[in-house]
Amino acid sequence: MNSPGRTLSGRATLAGVIGWPVGHSLSPALHGYWLDRYAIDGAYVPLPVAPENLGTALRALPALGFAGVNVTVPHKQAVAAAVDTLDDAARRIGAVNTVIVADDGKLVGRNTDGIGFINALHAGATGWSASAGPTVLLGAGGAARAICAALLDAGAPEVRIVNRTKQKADQIAADLGGPIQTLAWNDRDRSLENAGLLVNATTLGMTGADPLPISLDLLPASAVVTDIVYAPLETPLLAAARARGNVAVDGLGMLLHQACPAFAAWFGVEPEVTDALRNHVLNQLRAD
Ligand code: NAP
Repeated sequence: MNSPGRTLSGRATLAGVIGWPVGHSLSPALHGYWLDRYAIDGAYVPLPVAPENLGTALRALPALGFAGVNVTVPHKQAVAAAVDTLDDAARRIGAVNTVIVADDGKLVGRNTDGIGFINALHAGATGWSASAGPTVLLGAGGAARAICAALLDAGAPEVRIVNRTKQKADQIAADLGGPIQTLAWNDRDRSLENAGLLVNATTLGMTGADPLPISLDLLPASAVVTDIVYAPLETPLLAAARARGNVAVDGLGMLLHQACPAFAAWFGVEPEVTDALRNHVLNQLRAD
């Protein structure tokens, strides 16, 4: 799929991903799969943009006829400050992962990480509902902020944010409002009591990082456990959760589902997240 050199017409729709570096992004493989699958006259390209060139690169998008771009590390916050308008999610989160070039050339910043997270949980944990019980959210970085906002929107009765640097969790609570509690990192084991969902949104458990140090003893058997780290796909946390009988959902689904609204906006087709797509992206992940 996404055969390099595929012939485009002069009317091809263009999109891409801006990051620095951008070489390990899975988004070109993901969107390229859909472009082939739906036989769309379009291209999705990696755009390595150094921080000092970000403003110039963004303003060039309408001039070059791009339909939009995804935004990845380290640009998500800077793009939120640079675009012309923000959707509600991007404004609350303070970060943009998707830019749409409007018909009048204005840049619209969106954030689809949170909705991608929610849709991946619905797909991976049949019957899961945000309102089922308190969520324990480990981490208070950019991804945790998007997930917290989406969980509140989806009706979570309580979100317990547990982060190594507690002030960052407190800042999310102050910015988003709603039923958020913040806890010290040392309280992570006991925070699991009566939880309906446990989310790892730290970098712990990633290839090359330490595993997440947590005891699941107090976590109810009915709770769903998800890790947004997807390299490795089966993190030590997910393995421990499955071993004690909890439903466990890996982080690849969030990556696939966050891409759907952007693809639909740029290329005009609502794409599907399928096993074949997942395998295609996994092959790319393993090849890296
Ligand atoms: P980030 O803004 O850099 O936040 C990192 C978080 O990890 C912070 O809460 C940080 O705590 C915590 N952390 C790092 N090292 C730690 C340690 N040794 N002990 C305890 N906590 C530690 O990163 P992000 O953008 O939110 O991304 C977080 C992870 O999610 C990354 O692995 C990223 O690849 C993944 N992600 C996945 C998806 C997906 O689609 N599946 C989407 C976005 C991100 P402090 O605040 O104390 O530093």
